[in-house]
Amino acid sequence: MNTNLKINVLPDKEGFFGSYGGQFLDEDLKKEFQKIADEFLKIKDDREFNDELNYLLKHYAGRPSPVYYAKNLSEKYGADIYLKREDLNHTGAHKINHSLGEALLAKKMGKEKIIAETGAGQHGVATATAAALMGLKCDIYMGEVDIEKEKPNVDKMKILGANVVCVKRGNRTLKEAVDEAFCAYLKEYKTAIYAIGSVVGPHPFPMIVEHFQSVIGREAREQFLDLTGTLPDCVMACVGGGSNAIGIFRGFLDDDVNLYGVEPLGKGEKIGQNAASMTYGKDGLIHGFKCKLLQDENGNVADAYSIASGLDYPGVGPKHCYLNQIGRAKYVTVNDEEALNAFFELSRVEGIIPALESSHAVAYAIKFAQENKGKKILVNLSGRGDKDVEFVLNKTRS
Ligand SMILES: *Cc1c(COP(=O)(O)O)cnc(C)c1O
Repeated sequence: MNTNLKINVLPDKEGFFGSYGGQFLDEDLKKEFQKIADEFLKIKDDREFNDELNYLLKHYAGRPSPVYYAKNLSEKYGADIYLKREDLNHTGAHKINHSLGEALLAKKMGKEKIIAETGAGQHGVATATAAALMGLKCDIYMGEVDIEKEKPNVDKMKILGANVVCVKRGNRTLKEAVDEAFCAYLKEYKTAIYAIGSVVGPHPFPMIVEHFQSVIGREAREQFLDLTGTLPDCVMACVGGGSNAIGIFRGFLDDDVNLYGVEPLGKGEKIGQNAASMTYGKDGLIHGFKCKLLQDENGNVADAYSIASGLDYPGVGPKHCYLNQIGRAKYVTVNDEEALNAFFELSRVEGIIPALESSHAVAYAIKFAQENKGKKILVNLSGRGDKDVEFVLNKTRS
């Protein structure tokens, strides 16, 4: 591998990773987002900021999350499978890593409120948690359809003190929630900050979320070396917007380690049946940035679908598009059925119930292990499956 390739760099001034990313927005919104970018770049290496963040990651979120050698699974499938246990974090997934960072940034910028969107409610809960901790107000924009579907998360956000704003436009799901949250931010930028839920959206958000998630890869590389004395042959993670994947990839970009992003193939290859944006998308614009985007034959944003609602976004993070373009990471797919099987397999063989999102990465690891005996595979287990138990049982009963 060409180690001179500067892969681990920040985006350019306009927020581009190669030809992806950027900031395709009205001038007034651009100006406000630029202020967040400037403040973030000032603060990200600040000693006091990092001391505070690291304290919270350790004593509040429970980091470092362990790397666990899945012995039973490994013996069954013939390769060594290791799990980075992000499922053990407070609130049950990796999202708390960037939510704590974003909320701390808000506090340092003197803001009183965090504005965010949520689809399945996971980012909403993590943001509401961080806001409660920091004494910030919190408005979560959520589509009416999602509010009905994700009642337990809506209840949690309310218990945590957040204001859940019901979005009733268009399809009444994630896309409209983001649009509405942008509008709200534009009215309240003086006192509020916008906090996105993955490495997507306009500059500077992909850069900010990647920075806060990079703790996963930093820990995992060191832990893997401690455990085995070597680096893994490959690292795998599920990809919705791509934050848990980029977080773990960041630890291994400069190493001779193969990186696999696992996209949701849902019910099949046709547009509308999956959310595999890298595999089936074409270059396009969504939410103010350029990426591989699922589009219908007329170039309109297509509906995305996956059994894992945290993965059903029609776009994908610009840095992933760049890593794909230069061939540094590979993007593969796993369908609903394979993910569901992996959900049960990890539960029964290791006693770990994974999130349906993370089950995609586990499914690919199992497939890969059978075809690549003896390899060392590190899987990012992005979250726990408590939230999915009722849904899975209803599905397998019917
Ligand atoms: C939200 C979520 C994802 C998908 O988001 P990425 O930004 O692609 O990481 C994956 N796993 C879990 C558990 C999630 O909650």
